[in-house]
Amino acid sequence: MNSPSMKILFLDQSGTPGGAELCLLDIAKPYREHSIVGLLADGPFRALLAQHEIPTTVFTTQTINVRKESSLLTSLRSTSQLLPLVQAVAGTARSYDLIYANTPKALVIGALASLWSQRPLVYHLHDIISPDHFSKINRTVLVTLANRVAKLVIANSQASQTAFVAAGGRSQLCRVVYNGFDSDRYVIAPAETEHLRTTLALTDGFWIGHFSRLSPWKGQHILLKALTLCPDDTKAILVGDALFGEDEYVLELHRQVKQLGLEGRVRFLGFRSDIPQLMSACNLVTHTSTAPEPFGRVIVESMLCGTPVIAAAAGGATELIDTGENGWLCPPGEPEILAKVILTCRSAPQQRQQIAQLAQEQARDRFDIAAINTLIAQHLQSIV
Ligand code: UDP
Repeated sequence: MNSPSMKILFLDQSGTPGGAELCLLDIAKPYREHSIVGLLADGPFRALLAQHEIPTTVFTTQTINVRKESSLLTSLRSTSQLLPLVQAVAGTARSYDLIYANTPKALVIGALASLWSQRPLVYHLHDIISPDHFSKINRTVLVTLANRVAKLVIANSQASQTAFVAAGGRSQLCRVVYNGFDSDRYVIAPAETEHLRTTLALTDGFWIGHFSRLSPWKGQHILLKALTLCPDDTKAILVGDALFGEDEYVLELHRQVKQLGLEGRVRFLGFRSDIPQLMSACNLVTHTSTAPEPFGRVIVESMLCGTPVIAAAAGGATELIDTGENGWLCPPGEPEILAKVILTCRSAPQQRQQIAQLAQEQARDRFDIAAINTLIAQHLQSIV
């Protein structure tokens, strides 16, 4: 079977486009003629898929809460729709060659639907299955279902695979495939960048960008603390919103800005769809996750934009950056060290430029979407 003619039922739990969903968008595109993306929640992600002419269906209109503290099974049962949901997914799956579960809850539903419909299941693992991110019961449920039902687990980094295996997952099931990117999307004309800088008043000072949903483990507070240790003209834009009901953290960040006297140096831009433009407009990007990042799309995106990046040295980020060569790594949760690295980076514009350029060349090669999609197609062919 020619791979784009393979009929796939992609399954994702989220109506909101986070990293896993943006990755799925690129994976599903070549299959869109014969495939469909089934969502377990409605939201802006569906519109984004439609914009790319990828057919969608929403299996439930009731939002499934996605929190690491809640048990997968409890939250699914609380929708009191588990059986009809599985039945609906299995019914749809019968018209497809395989089920491709892209998120933990999609794995739970997809695994049951796979057993019911006798269609093979693939699990794309975008998470580090560890106590930092999942409760014990959730870890057990995920690993057991993947081990028993999935024919293939595509891990988005070595770190995600290692955590999966450490949690009891079968290593023979796993293949590591990094996220792919269309590098052309990240080449922004200098005039456009200048225009955006002027529009957003990012002209005065040294601007640091932080691109991530607002969530405690994404560590925006670490950057704020680091800013207080940098000269006053070091400023930051925080791009992203609280996607999973972490509104208290957003209030806390606003309070922190006031307490630290950072008004005028920190701007909250909310969720944006012009990430390449914004990254290109920044002098530096920081990634400050306090728990291991499964992959870290924003790190690769910064590289593709030619903007130097400092990332927290844990999880997938350590596979993306060789410190001092194509970016900088910094211990997670250490604002003092982060501030030092920011200052070093700031004081050496030529080195910064060289590092960013090398990072851009490497990233274009290493994360090329066409090559990544070919690799995924080969893995899928091997199980159908
Ligand atoms: N992103 C976005 N708009 C925003 C903030 C983030 O489109 O306002 C995108 C960002 O460009 C990246 C993704 O969301 O592609 C986040 O992926 P990442 O792997 O960094 O983190 P995750 O959300 O998967 O934890």
